[in-house]
Amino acid sequence: TGGCHVGDGKIYQGPMSTEIKDELQLEVQRRRNFAIISHPDAGKTTLTEKLLLYGGAIHEAGAVKVRRSQRHATSDWMAMEQQRGISITSTVLQFEYHNTQINLLDTPGHQDFSEDTYRTLAAADNAVMLEDAAKGLEPQTRKLFEVCKMRGLPIFTFINKMDRPGREPLELLDEIEQELGLHPYPVNWPIGMGDRFKGVFDRHKGQIHLFERTAHGSREAVDTVIDLGDPRIEDLLDQDLYYQLKEELELLDALGSDLDLSAVHSGKMTPVFFGSAMTNFGVQLFLDAFLEYSLKPGPHNSTIGDIPPDYPEFTGFVFKLQANMDPKHRDRVAFVRVCTGRFEKDMTVSHARTGKTVRLSRPQKLFAQDRESIEAAYPGDVIGLNNPGVFAIGDTIYNGQKLEYEGIPCFSPELFAYLKNPNPSKFKQFNKGITELREEGAIQIMYSQDDSKRDPILAAVGQLQFEVVQFRMQNEYGVETRLELLPYSVARWVAGGWEALTKVGRLFNTVTVKDSWGRPVLLFKNEWNCQQVQSEHPELELRSSAPVV
Ligand code: GDP
Repeated sequence: TGGCHVGDGKIYQGPMSTEIKDELQLEVQRRRNFAIISHPDAGKTTLTEKLLLYGGAIHEAGAVKVRRSQRHATSDWMAMEQQRGISITSTVLQFEYHNTQINLLDTPGHQDFSEDTYRTLAAADNAVMLEDAAKGLEPQTRKLFEVCKMRGLPIFTFINKMDRPGREPLELLDEIEQELGLHPYPVNWPIGMGDRFKGVFDRHKGQIHLFERTAHGSREAVDTVIDLGDPRIEDLLDQDLYYQLKEELELLDALGSDLDLSAVHSGKMTPVFFGSAMTNFGVQLFLDAFLEYSLKPGPHNSTIGDIPPDYPEFTGFVFKLQANMDPKHRDRVAFVRVCTGRFEKDMTVSHARTGKTVRLSRPQKLFAQDRESIEAAYPGDVIGLNNPGVFAIGDTIYNGQKLEYEGIPCFSPELFAYLKNPNPSKFKQFNKGITELREEGAIQIMYSQDDSKRDPILAAVGQLQFEVVQFRMQNEYGVETRLELLPYSVARWVAGGWEALTKVGRLFNTVTVKDSWGRPVLLFKNEWNCQQVQSEHPELELRSSAPVV
């Protein structure tokens, strides 16, 4: 059940039915979905490319048309993207491998790190944690890990760049165990590293996969496999590496727990793989094992119980909105994770929050050049819907009995700034813009407790969100704004709200603001101040993400 929160254990099946269930079970069985969590430069792009190689036909679902039109667009928005050399849009990459449909949800990283990066994890069933062998755990990976942990996602670890000098493998595993509280299980084990990287030992099959330095990774890698008992081994490996391998394997066995899939699926144990994405070594081994061990699309918790993916009606939720691809139309694309049933183009669905009926006729247009890929979509897939302002983050769309999925929480912002409107005559547009951008999930908005200070506080996960807000305020609402940065970097919601906060009395080294729902949020200059307040007031329950409204 890893990908979802199991509520009271009640599973709502819906009307018992027919062939649709068989079809759904078949499609769910052959679907896997995951997101990569990593720090910039660990090799996410490289690994993604190599994974796609194994997929043969590559489909970019979710944003095909969007991407394409973007290439030709010359709007300011695109100029902003081009200037910064980033892509504000993100895609879902679909590929077939061994008759399995794999959906790779792209988590925006680097300079475009934003709350969307976290939200993408709400649509994922599995996460792949990518580490640079020389660096081990890095800040962005840790943050994303926390979100995965909150959601109980299974985590698969790929330790990359083994062809370069790195840290000791055992040390890297120890770091995962100690710092993340995640039990690592090495599925394969590296033989040497850097200049002396010779390959990996597959602990389950008892085979060595030899690394060929000549393979340049633009094709599927040449993979020479020999058994551990093979007499050629001593010629192929330097003697010291051979003995080191034997020693380390004995050590692992002695330390050893077995691979426990239920622990993997509940996010307590992580299967670990070593390789070199650049030279395409270890990627296929990883992919094969991932298919075997990862979670299929599972049930999702809703207002009427847990809904299994073979529930015969189509349901899904919006996890991300993408604004303004085409400035002439001010289109918005809503990305929907399909939870149950079969999505068909032109289908009519109910929108849980407003009770409206919405015809999903646009995807056909959106994907005109890639029509076949959206004739139908199944649980675990992501579809992009043209959003005429109907959808907000976390919205449920459904057929059949009314239900709503658990929303997507607000994630702890780390950057704060007053947004000022220097031109009083633009008061109305300013407020409209702020409200709409907040509703759309482009940014979180907070307010001072002191009602005479009316400037909204923008609260963001990444710097880009500020720029996007200012840009859109100007271009869509005609308001030129000013930003005044605030010196905070940590936000915590108070469980129990104002009542709980009043009880503890005066707090030091923190300010209290209100979020858009009037709930108290404590802002701290740094993590240390936050911990200090927490240790002085253990009765105060501080949360790094906001309860869903
Ligand atoms: P991203 O920022 O995580 O998307 O990382 P990239 O895929 O762009 O890779 C960052 C840099 O690391 C690039 O220069 C890659 O060529 C390099 N790189 C990626 N994988 C490997 C690897 O397995 N070995 C080595 N030596 N370099 C790698």
